[in-house]
Amino acid sequence: MADAVSVLVVEDEDDIRNLVALNLRRSGFNVLTAGDGETALALAREHVPPVVLLDLMLPDMSGTEICQALRADSKTQGVYVIMVTARTEESDRIAGFEVGADDYVTKPFSARELAARIAAMRRRPRAAPDPETWDFGSLRIDVAARETILDGQVLDLTRLEFDLLAKLASEPRRAFSR
Ligand code: CA
Repeated sequence: MADAVSVLVVEDEDDIRNLVALNLRRSGFNVLTAGDGETALALAREHVPPVVLLDLMLPDMSGTEICQALRADSKTQGVYVIMVTARTEESDRIAGFEVGADDYVTKPFSARELAARIAAMRRRPRAAPDPETWDFGSLRIDVAARETILDGQVLDLTRLEFDLLAKLASEPRRAFSR
């Protein structure tokens, strides 16, 4: 019997995909690869990998669309999604978390760091977040302390801004009316 797939790498640039897959295999992961969104979704449904490394920019569909499709399918809704982006703007990060990404890496990233993040995800159950603190990649919202921490820096939010953020974060999959 073949080993269970441990990570699906979705990346349209051959050089990057091959390099990432090679490095992850060297780190002991059983790796599947896809160069476009359609293949990625088919492989994800067939193998249900615990972790999907998802490039944001793909030729046929965006990483956010793939992420939404994974979350909409009962078979794949529990997979961990690490979004890979070449951009660093916060708006892109927030958009990714709204569609259900669990973590982010920004290109170029180190193979060692990526392997460590994947290993950490596979150890942690994908359970409901602690209601007192919510972690979204580099963003942490501490409800009890009313603190928002991004990349280790406490953000200076107004009471309304914090309440809005906490409300949105409490149900990441839900769209709210104005
Ligand atoms: Ca790409």
